[in-house]
Amino acid sequence: MSHLWESALLALRPRLSEENFRTWLEPLALERFEDGVVTLRIPNRFYADWISSQYLPLILDALTQESGTTDLQVEWVVDESLQKSLDEQAEEARRVASATRPPTPSAPPPPPLESGAPAESGLNPKYRFDNFIVGPSNQLAHAASVAAASSPGARYNPLFIYGGVGLGKTHLVNAIGHRIRQEKADARVLFVSAERFTNEFIWALQNHRISEFRERYRRRCDVLCIDDIQFLAGREQTQEEFFHTFNALYHADRQIVVTSDVYPQQIREMEERLVSRFQWGLVADIQAPAIDTRIAILKKKAEQEQIALDDEVALLIAQHVQSNVRELEGTLLRLAVKAELVNKRVIDVELATSALGAIAPRVPEKQTTVEDIQRAACEYFGIRLAELKSHRRHRAVSFPRMVAMFVCRQHLNTSYPSLGDLFGGKDHTTVLSACRKIGGLYDSEDREVLQAVAAIERKVGLPPLE
Ligand code: ADP
Ligand code: MG
Repeated sequence: MSHLWESALLALRPRLSEENFRTWLEPLALERFEDGVVTLRIPNRFYADWISSQYLPLILDALTQESGTTDLQVEWVVDESLQKSLDEQAEEARRVASATRPPTPSAPPPPPLESGAPAESGLNPKYRFDNFIVGPSNQLAHAASVAAASSPGARYNPLFIYGGVGLGKTHLVNAIGHRIRQEKADARVLFVSAERFTNEFIWALQNHRISEFRERYRRRCDVLCIDDIQFLAGREQTQEEFFHTFNALYHADRQIVVTSDVYPQQIREMEERLVSRFQWGLVADIQAPAIDTRIAILKKKAEQEQIALDDEVALLIAQHVQSNVRELEGTLLRLAVKAELVNKRVIDVELATSALGAIAPRVPEKQTTVEDIQRAACEYFGIRLAELKSHRRHRAVSFPRMVAMFVCRQHLNTSYPSLGDLFGGKDHTTVLSACRKIGGLYDSEDREVLQAVAAIERKVGLPPLE
């Protein structure tokens, strides 16, 4: 059932701000799903109150969608181990910020710091380079990220990554942070969404903690990753603050990584001087992945989530979901949930097609040609194509030639005269007698012929003759 919660989370994610999502929903876990009752594990009681008052309808809606069960009820159990891991994250974040208690936004909703909600920006441990699939659509952004991570603050500063929703920007930026910390454990990496940056800034202003805020972002920071900078559109005061943050870090050769859903110049209502700074270093885009990359991502995700996924189903999903990697993953998880619900061990094509309302993929049937069969025969017998098509009558060459003619005739139903032409200008009677001869041996189950025919069929992907 673990996939149920995970796919519900994916559905919920776009419906909450990144901030609220990470604070309130990400720490939860599914305990049970039985008789229409969903039991969720929470770090502490406060979560139950807050979530019930804020997010319950959304959660129920997502769970109903994902499970196909209506009239659901939610129950809570407090799980201290969740609390512990939150505390550890908070502690870790404090260590990274190596500051006094970090400012947290009082803007709605206030993260209950004392009760142990994720206190700090922190990197998401799930997003690393080793689980990022590289393809033509994200090659540049990936290469730039690796380069920036290996020499932060140097050539690719700032690094600006832009691309549509769900294409891997947040993933890449987190990967940069992890890599830098891997190489230099005490590097102070700060990952924040522009939204969080804004909230913290406002909070600091209201609570007379602005010098602390500046200390944190301008001085106690070696690498600053700001996600979804387009959030600053029209927020002049925050832009102003960010501008000075940027300058302070930049002039101290600290790495800055910025993501956005559009190219710098296309961010609406963004100060010109910021836009131009975003282009000082490297601007890299991420495009929607092509089908091969989508398939590779699905396989990686299935492996991570221990979902049994065969090639045909991967192809089906990849054909069906084209725009967005998050949706791709969501679809996979949803199918895994469906498979669990009907007690199937694997997602099969039948289930996938009915769930997706899609048509089973027709594995593009590449038409086998005479030449394919000729090449396969050459490979099997270890001769060259020119020899196969020659007029030599030596058995080492004539036998493969006859077998190839026979396979072509049987499988492709090519006419004798055409085969004659395609085999280097032979008379059609030559082809006819070759086919008869091999046919006779085939029928009498001659081992050499049976083996050769079967091997050629396998090589070109043809089914065995009846
Ligand atoms: P964005 O920030 O661009 O909206 P995310 O980084 O949040 O997108 O990516 C959405 C989801 O897709 C995440 O779960 C992420 O791990 C996954 N993802 C995106 N691109 C890739 C990729 N190339 N390889 C593996 N997972 C990917
Ligand atoms: Mg993102």
